[in-house]
Amino acid sequence: MTETNTSALEPSGDPVRVGVYVCHCGGNISDVIDTKAVAAALAAHPNVAVSNDYMFMCSDPGQALIIDDIKANHINRVVVAACSPTLHEITFRKALQRAGLNPYLFEYVNIREQASWVHKGDHEGATRKAVRLVAAGVEKVVRQDELFPIKVGVEPHVVVVGGGVAGMSAAVALAGRGLGVTLVEKGVALGGRVADLDRVYPTEERGADLVQDLTRQVEGHSRIDVRLGSEVVGLDGHVGKFAVTVRTSSAAPDDQDHLVRAGAVVIATGFDHYKPAQGEHGFGESPAVVTLPDFQAALRQCPASRRGLQVNGRPARSVAFIHCVGSRQIDGVHAPQADGKVNDYCSRTCCTATLHTIRQVQSRFPDVDVYDLHKDIRTYGRGHEAYYEDASRAGALFFRFPDEEPPTFAASTGGEYAGTVTTRDILTWGEELEIPVDLVVLATGMVPRDIASLIDLRKLPVGADRFLQEVHPKLRPVETGVAGILLAGACQGPMDINEACTAAQTAAVKAAILLANPTIELDPFVAVVDGERCDGCGKCLAECEYVGALTMADVEQAGATVRHAVVNPAMCVGCGACAAVCSPRAINVAGWTLDQFDAMVDAIIAEDVGALAHTECRAGVRHIEFAVISGGN
Ligand SMILES: Cc1cc2nc3c(=O)[nH]c(=O)nc-3n(C[C@H](O)[C@H](O)[C@H](O)COP(=O)(O)OP(=O)(O)OC[C@H]3O[C@@H](n4cnc5c(N)ncnc54)[C@H](O)[C@@H]3O)c2cc1C
Repeated sequence: MTETNTSALEPSGDPVRVGVYVCHCGGNISDVIDTKAVAAALAAHPNVAVSNDYMFMCSDPGQALIIDDIKANHINRVVVAACSPTLHEITFRKALQRAGLNPYLFEYVNIREQASWVHKGDHEGATRKAVRLVAAGVEKVVRQDELFPIKVGVEPHVVVVGGGVAGMSAAVALAGRGLGVTLVEKGVALGGRVADLDRVYPTEERGADLVQDLTRQVEGHSRIDVRLGSEVVGLDGHVGKFAVTVRTSSAAPDDQDHLVRAGAVVIATGFDHYKPAQGEHGFGESPAVVTLPDFQAALRQCPASRRGLQVNGRPARSVAFIHCVGSRQIDGVHAPQADGKVNDYCSRTCCTATLHTIRQVQSRFPDVDVYDLHKDIRTYGRGHEAYYEDASRAGALFFRFPDEEPPTFAASTGGEYAGTVTTRDILTWGEELEIPVDLVVLATGMVPRDIASLIDLRKLPVGADRFLQEVHPKLRPVETGVAGILLAGACQGPMDINEACTAAQTAAVKAAILLANPTIELDPFVAVVDGERCDGCGKCLAECEYVGALTMADVEQAGATVRHAVVNPAMCVGCGACAAVCSPRAINVAGWTLDQFDAMVDAIIAEDVGALAHTECRAGVRHIEFAVISGGN
């Protein structure tokens, strides 16, 4: 144990005593970095009282080392230099808590991804870099305030927006977990797009039966309130305490707006079908060119008779299906959408939906000639490839066109068939083919619905493909950047029914976990305003992306009324955009203050860890704790 030699003091007047723990991470770190040298270098820091290295800091004995030092050696700040904080930051915070220390008096330094893994060929350099990163961590933790989670009261109720299969599945799952649900559907009936489908792949159930079954569960549940012909027109508040205004236009004027208090909101507004541009493969110019959803509807209404397949009152003896219409578009080949960009994403469901439809044509009208024109076939689901194999065996002819040369259609005047599709087939030697057809079916992709008014209510995050965007596709797949607002189904991107319902179950579980207790605990890393420094200029407000997180208000200060920034800690995400534009340095993000950043930069560029002597570095020790936020809106 080293004696600290510093003027940095705790609020109690005790010296700040930092424990530094350098992890080998098996050999992930120590095969490249000299961990003993890092620990020895940090021991020279004036605020470091203990500095050790160990094989696995995250193991029980590793955590016990820290806990023992906190108790026996009066360590009051901890730095762990190890793998990624996403893996073990919480593990170590809990260890501090078990030892009786505020869990935020802790800094995690990633010397695996940021040093050993990226500098494998330079052991000395990686070790030098690790020393500087850990020294920066020590400088930061020395200036760390005690923090406490933000506590928010909870409404055990969820608003689900959209009554397709995803919205209905989410509603049933939420109600089954004991939560109240308001299901808001814009249309006059529940079911969404699936209600329009005949048999659905891969189960071959009727879309209508599937929807009916879910509708029965929704309508039969005492905890679910269904609001048809309704939309969300107001979305105030924050996770745990949203105030949602639902407008039912068909209601009497005084009853149109209904306020629902909810702890979470699930968005399940689904998708729209891509509408081909005028002239795209002949669309809009010839009645012989239709979209896949329109063809499916026509097929459903077409009786199996000796007259054969009839579409819009015309015989269809030869049908060409063209894949990827409105999906996987290429700049320069396809016309851009309204936002100036092409739809370069894959709509995922249309390949299987097309082959599934081809199989229906083949089984009901075996005399019809079927041609399948694709650039690729992506039947990605379990068992979906069977539709391709079966269609091929039953006589469908498959041609593969080059990405940059989509097939064209020319209507004939007075010929035997309605027209000719011209394509080049790269499955052979690039042969150019002219296919006589009565009908061209365009496998149109999925595009996001126009829910701009809903998005604008909370600046919901939208991806480059214009679908709603999750925080992380693997780690937080149904959460948006706005805490408590979750996603389910095809509003997030192309999905089949199975995937949409799985996403809905995930969102329901996420909401149920959030609302399981009377209060939610949020991380305290939010903006904090120093009222004495704030000059009320409002630049921070202009930068804040999170509706309601920051406002300007008149407050009483030293007997006078002054205007300054006020943060709602339940709505702030701690992005720091406000702090970055505040010239008087009146705003700081708790746990990431500007003073901490300055000190870290100084440590990184310092020549020698031992030279990092401090004077009065913790003169203004604070204890940041927010009251439980439980007020309504
Ligand atoms: C041609 C085609 C064929 C397909 N065939 C199959 C198949 O055979 N098998 C399969 O697994 N998948 C198939 N799919 C995919 C399937 O359609 C989707 O997976 C499914 O519809 C997604 O359900 P959802 O609830 O997310 O969205 P949707 O079905 O689009 O439902 C969304 C609901 O939200 C409502 N809504 C929209 N905006 C608002 C708003 N602002 N406020 C309130 N309510 C709103 C809508 O009215 C709608 O009821 C097919 C897709 C296409 C394009």
